[in-house]
Amino acid sequence: MIGKFLDWLKNLGDGDEGSELACSVCGEAPAAGAFSSRFGPVSFAACGACRNEGAESLFMICGCIHRAGGPKTAKERFAGARSFHEGAYIGLEKILALYPEFADEFEDV
Ligand SMILES: [Zn+2]
Repeated sequence: MIGKFLDWLKNLGDGDEGSELACSVCGEAPAAGAFSSRFGPVSFAACGACRNEGAESLFMICGCIHRAGGPKTAKERFAGARSFHEGAYIGLEKILALYPEFADEFEDV
């Protein structure tokens, strides 16, 4: 069933160049598949390298941190968080340093 779901995801594009599923962590294509986040009820596309690294989308992790109460309470729950920024894999410390860039997006209007 999972395999069928991944095939369906792959076939979402119509085969034109650039329509293949891209990794939502580092932006490379094609993604190896869709995976569940360790931090929230969301799925994301990831390439093999990001999957091996255990990295998740920076925007998504920041969203989960926001929902969990913000950076001050993130240290334990998100201790193992990995993401990708400007060509390199980053850990929680760097993620929290970048968090303010996204925080506005999560505020309820
Ligand atoms: Zn990737």
